[in-house]
Amino acid sequence: MESLFVNELSKCVRCAGCKANCPTYDEDSTESMGARGRIALLGAFSSGKIKPSAILNDTIFSCTLCGACAGLCPPGVDIKEVIYHGRRLLKKTDKKRKYLRFFTNFYTKRPQLSFKLLSLTQHFLFPYLHKKGILSFRPELPERLFKDDHHVYTVSKKKGRIAIFTGCAVNFLFPHLGETLISVLHRLGYEVILPVGEVCCGIPLRSLGLEEEARELAKKNCGIFSKLNVEAVLSLCPTCTLAMKIDYPKLIGEGINNAMDISEFFTEKTGLSFFTYPVSDLTKVIYHDPCHLKYGLGVTKEPRKIIEHIGLDLLKTTGEKCCGFAGTFCLSYRDLSKSLLMKCVKEYSETAAEAVVTSCPGCMIQLSKESSDKPVLHLIEVIEDAMIPKN
Ligand code: SF4
Ligand code: SF4
Repeated sequence: MESLFVNELSKCVRCAGCKANCPTYDEDSTESMGARGRIALLGAFSSGKIKPSAILNDTIFSCTLCGACAGLCPPGVDIKEVIYHGRRLLKKTDKKRKYLRFFTNFYTKRPQLSFKLLSLTQHFLFPYLHKKGILSFRPELPERLFKDDHHVYTVSKKKGRIAIFTGCAVNFLFPHLGETLISVLHRLGYEVILPVGEVCCGIPLRSLGLEEEARELAKKNCGIFSKLNVEAVLSLCPTCTLAMKIDYPKLIGEGINNAMDISEFFTEKTGLSFFTYPVSDLTKVIYHDPCHLKYGLGVTKEPRKIIEHIGLDLLKTTGEKCCGFAGTFCLSYRDLSKSLLMKCVKEYSETAAEAVVTSCPGCMIQLSKESSDKPVLHLIEVIEDAMIPKN
């Protein structure tokens, strides 16, 4: 691991190609806020030229891990892996995120208990955290988790079998999205499995430097989902899909190969002829690309193809803006996160779109904070609406 890290660092030829789409460099044009600067700092740290410090930690933890730099690097430095490894080495000295690490570790190990505790305390805890500026939004927890146990949703004439990887955001905050996905898959004739034992994808832990803890979760998920006899493992969260497909092989040497984004699944496996009816109260929309779907999984055309097939007018945007959510990043770097968000919102609010459609629950949380004039919808909601006949 250590030699891989040093090897990746040494590949950097300092060309600066990675700065082009970097949201943090775009916001604060200092060298250390782009990949090149972060790599140089980690190189100096690994060779002992600099010691851990609050400034070094802040620089390395301020990367959103969006992946926008990866495809721009001529020698192919695995920038995200370098950052993950740097965080692993720096976590002990990183006091600023000590409590965030503790709570993230706690909830990933005990999701049900965390949900109960948060449900009991949410009416004073969330307003308090919001007032203190720790939370920039007030979550509203649903009455129950989407996934409490193992479920198989059968259909009479089975066309195929699909497993859903629920993910924490859908489980805790957007259970209706999970129910909508089941409903769409049922209408298409698929049996749906929600297997017992699924845990957090591990990315929130890994992004905080908790590599070993993330590895344990990855092993658990692989052990469960790789054994299932299903056509695809679908998730409504691109970070979870990216973890299963791309990050797990690097972390534990195996991944969940049939993990797919829903837009890929519907365009490649089912065709779009099922989505034919006009969507309620919508004619013009914008599509917001989640970074992990766009840069990590290379999926940009499929959601647009679905939206256009449904007959919605898809308005053009620059399509290169990170919304600033980035998991635990938005809790550690509230000002930076808000600046990134406001750039997105400004661009979107200047269009005639009636809604913003995206494919990520995290982007939905973030964009909804400031996009009061346009509802923010998940693509699966639009798809379900387009399957229902209207009078
Ligand atoms: S992953 Fe994103 S934020 Fe981090 S250095 Fe690359 S482009 Fe910048
Ligand atoms: S694009 Fe790659 S080689 Fe060029 S500076 Fe960035 S990390 Fe280094």
